[in-house]
Amino acid sequence: MKLLTENAARDAIVKRGHMLRNAGLTPGSSGNISVRLEDGILVTPTNSRLGELEPNDISKLNFDGHLLSGMPASKEAYLHLKMLEERPSDTAVVHLHSTHSVALSCMGGLDVDNVLPPLTAYYAMRVGSLPLIPYFPPGDLELAEIVAKFATRHYALLLSNHGPVVSGCDLNAASCAIEEIEETAKLHMLLENYKTRPLTAKQVADINDRFKS
Ligand code: ZN
Repeated sequence: MKLLTENAARDAIVKRGHMLRNAGLTPGSSGNISVRLEDGILVTPTNSRLGELEPNDISKLNFDGHLLSGMPASKEAYLHLKMLEERPSDTAVVHLHSTHSVALSCMGGLDVDNVLPPLTAYYAMRVGSLPLIPYFPPGDLELAEIVAKFATRHYALLLSNHGPVVSGCDLNAASCAIEEIEETAKLHMLLENYKTRPLTAKQVADINDRFKS
């Protein structure tokens, strides 16, 4: 695991925030990004717009969640801390309220073990499985506990009536996976009234053999 310097991590969060904002994935002040450092994490501040971040405003927390510098952290920082704690080889987390993913998280009758079919090779490669986490109010400590439990086995989670949270070996990997979830949720809804052909178990296994380490 290679960690960025604090300044490089601040710049990477600002740049990624602009990209996600420009892609229309962060309505209002929703969405938050974190990056692991040697001595804590950087996470986007509360009520910030991801397209208007300043490097020095980004919150630095120790691993217990105490603010070390910058603006007060996002109310959802505990999700990031839990994901990074349970996934020691991951260095970044992205959480979004992107429209199609949130819509999916509000649907009834989902397979809670894996809410999306493997419609494309890139979804199978970058995400693979996406369990649905039960609904809890924002900031509820029980949500942190259940996220921690799932995070040991899954790097991509969908929070019920809320949105996706994804960790990765670096910020680009976490971001690409969460963007893939949004696109696949959109495709899933576009195809709602059509008979679809998701990849077969054999085709998914082949993708995993070829591309997943
Ligand atoms: Zn949220």
